Amino acid sequence: MKAAVLEGIEKMTVREVETPRAEPGGLVLRVRACTICGSDIRIFHYGSPRVMFPQVVGHEVSGEVVEVGEGLAGFEVGDRIATAGDVACGECEFCKRGIGNCCPINYAIGYQFPGGFAEYLPINSLTVRHGAVNPIPDSLGWDEAALAEPLACCINGLETSHFQAGESIVVIGAGPIGLMLAQLAKSFGATKVLIVQRSRGRLEMARRFGADAVISSQDEDPAERVREETGGEGADIVLTACGSPEAQEQAMEMVRFRGRVNLFGGLPKGTRKIEVDSNLLHYKEAYLHGCHGAIPRQHRAALALLASGHIRAKELITHRFPLDDILPAFQAAESRAGLKAVVNP
Ligand SMILES: [Zn+2]
Ligand SMILES: [Zn+2]
Repeated sequence: MKAAVLEGIEKMTVREVETPRAEPGGLVLRVRACTICGSDIRIFHYGSPRVMFPQVVGHEVSGEVVEVGEGLAGFEVGDRIATAGDVACGECEFCKRGIGNCCPINYAIGYQFPGGFAEYLPINSLTVRHGAVNPIPDSLGWDEAALAEPLACCINGLETSHFQAGESIVVIGAGPIGLMLAQLAKSFGATKVLIVQRSRGRLEMARRFGADAVISSQDEDPAERVREETGGEGADIVLTACGSPEAQEQAMEMVRFRGRVNLFGGLPKGTRKIEVDSNLLHYKEAYLHGCHGAIPRQHRAALALLASGHIRAKELITHRFPLDDILPAFQAAESRAGLKAVVNP
């Protein structure tokens, strides 16, 4: 089969590799869509301690079952399946508590396990047992179904911030994740969704995705504007959906008393550490926390939400590429010219 193999840092080649076979209890998918994530781009440029070269990356996958491993019930050839990224051990304390994304084993499709930038994707038995493969509702296309993985992470973001209907939200960063978070918050009953973004180009898109106000941090003081928009109080929840330490620092100025700042987006390797004005948090009785990844329940919820039409996934996908054009696809995703780029192997 053909696969885009990441041979080393910034070295990815499309070449023939051995077609995978299903292990007992596992599956093989014919990949139909794999969307490019910011973390794929980070691995491409900087590598990751969880990725050993050569490896096929890509964890936002949809595809069709072409082989069912020995002894595996519940799957059939022809099933339409989407994958969640994280794979947990199923046995540790975190897994028992239902928070497998915090499992120290920290396996993931497209990291330690092969990913979706290939014609076929082997899914091992641990991944199947963990529940990281879920059926795609009939009404949902391949490309949108692949977005269930990042959408599941957004659901995890709102859950870890203990979001409740009737609250106000600020999302810093109007990339695909920021716009998904904004739509999700709206559909879950946020009274006000404000999007902050540095560049003006993406702000126009943010407006189209239903933000109540879009704020360009180039043109105005975003914290002051957030206070203005929230009756002087600040927002209940501020999520940073970008890789900027400045945004993380600003977020603490935007949150209200007893509010929550969620550092949703990780910072690229080598980024400076942020400065925390601890008195700001102290007097506001505010919470500063993070989140990452998602669990299978959230992936299934994401698929259902996408099928319901509450999240406008089709419009999030602005670029499509065949597998041979994986490098232009990565460039398109990185250029921020559009939103989500999808590879259809
Ligand atoms: Zn992702
Ligand atoms: Zn575990």
